[in-house]
Amino acid sequence: MAVALIVAAGSGERLGADRPKAFVVLAGRPMLAWSVDALRSVSSVEAIVVALPPGSDPLPGTRAAPGGPTRSHSVRLALEAAQAPDDELVVVHDAARPLAPADLFERTLAELATSGAEAAIAATPVTDTVKQAAPDRTVTATLDRATLWAVQTPQAFRAGALRRALDVGDDVLAAATDDAWLIERAGGTVRVVESPPENLKVTTPFDLRVAELLLADRA
Ligand code: C5P
Repeated sequence: MAVALIVAAGSGERLGADRPKAFVVLAGRPMLAWSVDALRSVSSVEAIVVALPPGSDPLPGTRAAPGGPTRSHSVRLALEAAQAPDDELVVVHDAARPLAPADLFERTLAELATSGAEAAIAATPVTDTVKQAAPDRTVTATLDRATLWAVQTPQAFRAGALRRALDVGDDVLAAATDDAWLIERAGGTVRVVESPPENLKVTTPFDLRVAELLLADRA
């Protein structure tokens, strides 16, 4: 069995909405509700803990945890609230990805359970050519696209490994843009699970519009 942690405590400043991003209405429902629904249809997920912004109420079928000052702090607080035993599977998801389908959670959890890796993470192969550039915008390198993956959530771990990875100083937590990096820096193996193209992250008003159009078919 598994526990799901959804981090929903961000303010969503770049979206410019009048409320925290996870509660912006998308195709008739709060953004967070779409991820909760997908997770509720995953049979191995027995609890959903959501790190919430101050003053927000939990959605039906979920348990609330307080949010922290950064995303990784929110993951740590949600994991504490989940009280999962060390060998329990944990799948972490951003409320900002409302289009993640149920089978992506299932495939990520299955990869973790069968691969022996310390983490299994949703990702998509990079289709653009990626270059590095200096601050003056002079290109310094062209990366080998065949090896590049754009990393997303869900990300699955054993509770004990995730707890140990998150047991680091505030500076490291603040620098972590995903949880798998914390596993990597501790020497753990991380495997990618290919996600479908619709698993986009809502950051800007443009993303919100695209997500709205895609979710209108499911509403
Ligand atoms: O800001 P960004 O979109 O990168 O955040 C990714 C996810 O982390 C969002 O779902 C957001 O609600 C969550 N988050 C959080 N606590 C924070 C910052 C972000 O739960 N302090």
